[in-house]
Amino acid sequence: MHERGVTVWFTGLSGAGKTTLSRWVAEQLRTNGRRVEILDGDEVRRTLTRGLGFSKQDRDENIRRIGYVAHLLARNGVIVLVAVISPYREVREEVRRLIGDFVEVYVNAPLEVCEQRDLKGLYRKARAGEIRGFTGIDDPYEPPLAPEVECRTDLETVEQSGAKVLAALRERGYI
Ligand code: ADP
Repeated sequence: MHERGVTVWFTGLSGAGKTTLSRWVAEQLRTNGRRVEILDGDEVRRTLTRGLGFSKQDRDENIRRIGYVAHLLARNGVIVLVAVISPYREVREEVRRLIGDFVEVYVNAPLEVCEQRDLKGLYRKARAGEIRGFTGIDDPYEPPLAPEVECRTDLETVEQSGAKVLAALRERGYI
């Protein structure tokens, strides 16, 4: 059976929609019989990369480990959906080179929108100085320069954004 694996890398600010979008895409793909794994930042940091912090060095290490696991899965025909902030451009490019079959999705909502959503109350804490080094507040986010897909989640529904991701996979022959 010919099933090409691929890593779909969702990058964006906290609250931009990475988890929501990756789950929606996973459900669609599974319905069509594909094997899918989600590597979600919150869960990965409790397991695979437990103990790492939020310095640039630790964030880069987090991404390298996730990228390596994604690589192992994708080369076995799995569609890997990675949903992590991954704020640094250079290490995203590094894992892109490692993995090869790589579709970058810029999950883009303005900071003000993410902050207003504040689903986990983290922006409030960051503004109050209770969390230091929070991406978008007092830590950088470097947007992709040429992502395969950009989803403006403040303007699109989850279905519209998800359909763009599926179209990109279809165009490239992964599904
Ligand atoms: P992240 O994983 O990036 O931190 P979440 O997925 O947890 O973000 O939260 C994103 C929020 O934005 C959810 O409440 C979701 O319903 C909402 N949302 C609105 N439009 C979209 C869209 N087009 N894509 C993804 N999420 C969206």
